[in-house]
Amino acid sequence: MTATLVIGPYSDIDVAGLKSAFDPFFLDKPADISGLEQTIQSQITAVAFKGHASFDGGLMDMLPNLKLIANYGVGYDAINITHANERGIKVTNTPDVLNDDVADIAVGMLLMQVREMSQASEWARSGRWKNQGEYRLNRKFSGGRVGIVGLGRIGREIANRLASFKMDIHYFARTSKPTPDWTYHDNPVALAKAVDYLVVALVGGPDTTKFVSREVIAALNPNAIIVNISRGSTIDEEAMLEALEAGKIGGAALDVFQNEPNIDPRFYDLHNVVIQPHQGSGTVETRADMAALQRDNIHAFVRGEKLVTPVN
Ligand code: NAP
Repeated sequence: MTATLVIGPYSDIDVAGLKSAFDPFFLDKPADISGLEQTIQSQITAVAFKGHASFDGGLMDMLPNLKLIANYGVGYDAINITHANERGIKVTNTPDVLNDDVADIAVGMLLMQVREMSQASEWARSGRWKNQGEYRLNRKFSGGRVGIVGLGRIGREIANRLASFKMDIHYFARTSKPTPDWTYHDNPVALAKAVDYLVVALVGGPDTTKFVSREVIAALNPNAIIVNISRGSTIDEEAMLEALEAGKIGGAALDVFQNEPNIDPRFYDLHNVVIQPHQGSGTVETRADMAALQRDNIHAFVRGEKLVTPVN
């Protein structure tokens, strides 16, 4: 007998879709695998995984017949992919369907930060507009110089959107890409020196940990703004906090943090930071597309067909 195990915080709609497709077992987090009866553990051949809690090799090994982990999300850094490879476990993700939403949030956060929209809204709400007059002048958004760290699927969508704001687009990737008249930098320090806004769109995981390093942050100009929609791990968060607190950079707009959702409380005291609760792909439409792609991968596995979006 084979069975599917669903792990993670799913919406009611997603749960209904998974139930009717696979009649699976459900767990809140990977660590709960250890509490499953051994007979159930050995029935599991596929896991539908969602979330950022670590899915490590020890937990995979409690499922001796596991052959597929279908991740809900494009970033699969919570899954120990090296161990999955060693065990011959296939991993799939949900690329592309979320590009628009994540790029929209990145651009929205940057515009909100540059034009001080949150502070200006507070100015009006608190009665200061009525009593003290106009909000202070802020900064022009269109026509700025932006650097994208990681010109992958999402990075390119962000660049396309900012190009329509007449921005001068610079980027880092490990190799240069075919682009319009965008400027390639082969290292992130050179990129940081060249721009007003640095938007991080890298993959997460061990290879990119603190890729936006203390040195990269120090290379930014004093008015520069960092945007991060990738993972909290990709930026040296301590170095960024110190730069924000000391006014060495202009601000940050962040959808992702280390240790989410228990983020460093120093962020709450910084008025030059826009905080979003990791909601880049969080629209009804996109989450439905992600859930459908996750289910399509499991269906393909169950039928012995080619996986739709494999990562290994
Ligand atoms: P992608 O197409 O694979 O692009 C990833 C980029 O990272 C590429 O530019 C790639 O460079 C670069 N990269 C990969 N490994 C690297 C390394 N070792 N050193 C330096 N650069 C490296 O991925 P995507 O679909 O755009 O997604 C990017 C990430 O966004 C995801 O992995 C996820 O963590 C995050 N994300 C966040 C949200 C959210 O809600 N905030 C939602 C979805 C995704 P090359 O071009 O040189 O290969």
